Amino acid sequence: MKAPVVISACLAGLKTRYDGTARTHPLLKQIMEQAIPVPVCPEILGGLGIPRSPSRFIGGDGAAVLQTKATIVDETGADRTSFFVRGAEQTLQLVKLISPVLIIFKEGSPSCGLRRVDIEGSWRDGCGVATAMLRSLGFPILSEEDSLSDFLTRLSGKMVHKADQPGEF
Ligand code: SF4
Repeated sequence: MKAPVVISACLAGLKTRYDGTARTHPLLKQIMEQAIPVPVCPEILGGLGIPRSPSRFIGGDGAAVLQTKATIVDETGADRTSFFVRGAEQTLQLVKLISPVLIIFKEGSPSCGLRRVDIEGSWRDGCGVATAMLRSLGFPILSEEDSLSDFLTRLSGKMVHKADQPGEF
């Protein structure tokens, strides 16, 4: 029986990005053959629309936002932090219900990024708000930039469960 995999909605082909486009994952077909993909967009869940002004961090990344040490503003300078936190919380509720074997998130996003995000106009090491929240609870997360073998290993008989090896990803 196929296991559920939560995937950033834009990677699943849905036009949920700030500019109304998708970034369909080149391996989506293979992922669908081995798992049940469940598209999730934290920013839509948080109440932001399509299209929307692109946002960046001020003072730190998603983890810092959750510690109230950083904020998120859009291109107009409007504070959007609450939308991103709400989106992360809603995503967490969904992930708890779905209990996926893997989460595949879009790199670079202020919600879904894993290793780099836009902080004050520059790409810096850090993660998005939803990623920070899910990571803190040990959910297994990869980005679309991780290798095919990583994906397929985890989607095949060697799937790693978060309860067995928290934080491995
Ligand atoms: Fe894609 Fe995540 Fe941005 Fe939604 S919040 S558009 S799922 S990267």
